Amino acid sequence: MKVLLLNPPGAQPFIRDYYCSKVSKSNYLFQPIDLVMQSGILAGRHQITVCDAIADKLTAEETLERVRCCAPDAIVSLAGSVCLYDDLDFLERAARHGGTLLVSGDAFLEEPSCWLESYPFLDGILLDFTSDDILSFLDGNRRGAASIVSRDSDTAYQRPRGQEFSIPVPRHELFTSPNYRFPFVRQREFATVLSDFGCPYRCSFCIMASLGYRYRPAANMLEELRYLKGLGIRELFFIDQSYGVRRDKALELCEAMAREQLGFGWVCYSRVDLVDRELLEAMKRAGCHTIIFGVESASSLILEQYQKGYTQEDVLKTFRLCRSCGIRTVATFIIGLPEETRQTALETINFLKKIDCDFASFNIAVPRAGTELRQNAIRDGLVSEQVTVMDQSGTSIAMDTHHLSSAEIGQLKQRALRTFYLRPSYLLRRLAGIRSWYELTEQLREGFHLLRNH
Ligand code: SF4
Repeated sequence: MKVLLLNPPGAQPFIRDYYCSKVSKSNYLFQPIDLVMQSGILAGRHQITVCDAIADKLTAEETLERVRCCAPDAIVSLAGSVCLYDDLDFLERAARHGGTLLVSGDAFLEEPSCWLESYPFLDGILLDFTSDDILSFLDGNRRGAASIVSRDSDTAYQRPRGQEFSIPVPRHELFTSPNYRFPFVRQREFATVLSDFGCPYRCSFCIMASLGYRYRPAANMLEELRYLKGLGIRELFFIDQSYGVRRDKALELCEAMAREQLGFGWVCYSRVDLVDRELLEAMKRAGCHTIIFGVESASSLILEQYQKGYTQEDVLKTFRLCRSCGIRTVATFIIGLPEETRQTALETINFLKKIDCDFASFNIAVPRAGTELRQNAIRDGLVSEQVTVMDQSGTSIAMDTHHLSSAEIGQLKQRALRTFYLRPSYLLRRLAGIRSWYELTEQLREGFHLLRNH
């Protein structure tokens, strides 16, 4: 079969992958991991074409023309809450030129059968983009494809927790747009990789807590990394939600990467209570130069309420440890959770200065489908059940808190951005930390877009 992996066009630089759609804050865009993973799974049996209309800046008409030329037997497309109804309108048009249409995206995780009922041009919804169920589905065995919801599905999908999985090497060479950029990588040639899926933690605002948890053995990852090295890739973005959940696997992979001298620089997400000196040093030896940590809030009440499972002391300790190991840090924050007050937001902004991180990123709380946060916000009247379009980057704010209006939330986010990024000492340190010409040009570009969007 001819299978088209599609990232639909959009009016803004939308990021739609990994069930977490948003507007790119400073025009960065990485290879969409749902499609990257599916490319490896499908390539052994089918002919794959990739069309990333966001990366290639295609209009709807140009994208439709590509779909027409490809004449696919099946389309696997992303769609995101951030631009849901535009995506659905586009997919309805695309479906006229392709056979079977499968979709992967955050909006569809809650009540997927209802979406299929309302949008008859959708044939299936992927609940796990790392699964090879798509092969059975395309062979006509829809009931055998447990992680794909279709009109023929008859049971709810039980998500695996704590199991190992291997995948064929993804076809990274199909994701070649020069417009893929990520602010924390240090060379242009980078790829997005995934060594586990989902997250075993229970932070109740986060969709990842509902995805189960599976991990890849180091040998399976290494096969992919050797392939990437052969393609000339020099930097990696590990999009694992918390690198080091399986400490033994993380150490094994780092040791193998260092032993084989793969020579990648890399960036990952982790949790402040997952890393210690031994793991950080192993990661550093394997090429890790930047870690992104969710700090979320300076309020102990909010951290407890959302089951983060760590304290501000843990945050400070881990950020210091990273600095002493020579690893850069990115702190991410959420402003606008229902308990947020002006006071807690200001405490968070003050805390930000204490952490001594290299970069900071500010998100707005969103009532994403499938989260406990959404259920509670609907129950408390903070958001209506009908709200399915939202953006954690804050281009629009989907819900008030119990104490703040959306306008006040937006102002506090802008204040946090200004407080962090417009300090002369910070700007000087950031310039001093630049290691390559690519990094310099990208940092200037990011800064420009961040200020413009601000
Ligand atoms: S640890 Fe991170 S990815 Fe996992 S549930 Fe919590 S916020 Fe989500």
